[in-house]
Amino acid sequence: MPHRVIAIDGPAGSGKSTVARRIAQALGLTLLDTGAIYRSLALRAREQGVDWGDGPALARLCASLDLRFRLEGEKDRVLLDGRDVSDAIRTPEISRGASQVSALPEVRTALLGRQRRFAEEGSVVAEGRDIGTVVFPSARPKIFLSASPEVRAGRRHAELASAGQRVSLEEVLREQVSRDAADAGRSAAPLRAAADAITVDTSGLEIDEVVARILALVAAADAGR
Ligand code: C5P
Repeated sequence: MPHRVIAIDGPAGSGKSTVARRIAQALGLTLLDTGAIYRSLALRAREQGVDWGDGPALARLCASLDLRFRLEGEKDRVLLDGRDVSDAIRTPEISRGASQVSALPEVRTALLGRQRRFAEEGSVVAEGRDIGTVVFPSARPKIFLSASPEVRAGRRHAELASAGQRVSLEEVLREQVSRDAADAGRSAAPLRAAADAITVDTSGLEIDEVVARILALVAAADAGR
């Protein structure tokens, strides 16, 4: 029997990462943070002098990307070639790079199989932008998280501050608006809710409420099987 996939898509700051981690913990599933894969590729490219617009060179880099995820307490550590890059991939510069490299069809194709292989090893909660539309179209349920741009920028700002990164709220909002536009406007796997996704607006909700709502949707999907 194929393993189960729960898809959680949405824009930056919609609460995806925190919510996906909590759902994975509550259900004992593995978390697949697909944004971390694009971020790691952008970091690797920068370090090796590969241009963020060079599709063929980036696709070659994808093939040799040694990427592992490790849950340490509440923190998801990302290991690139055995090196902990969890914080290095979350800077505004690498966020921009991830957005650029992820818009290239060669990159998306090169990383598709890698993402799908995660679900061959066990059931996963996968979070990203195109999980429900492209990577795992048969995932159930498919959740699309949304929130107002101001709420999302406020969350990202707090996240960066707690990681010790000093960036102004205005810069975070500016960068987020341009990243949203690029993610939604690209032709390769644009950010959008799948036709059968359930949208949850997290603007006025606490994390606990969002998690409870999604767990109820998972239970409802199971009951409908
Ligand atoms: O989710 P996160 O902010 O870490 O993603 C970083 C960038 O990677 C996004 O802005 C988006 O451009 C890209 N991404 C994507 N498809 C995914 C996950 C992330 O294009 N499934």
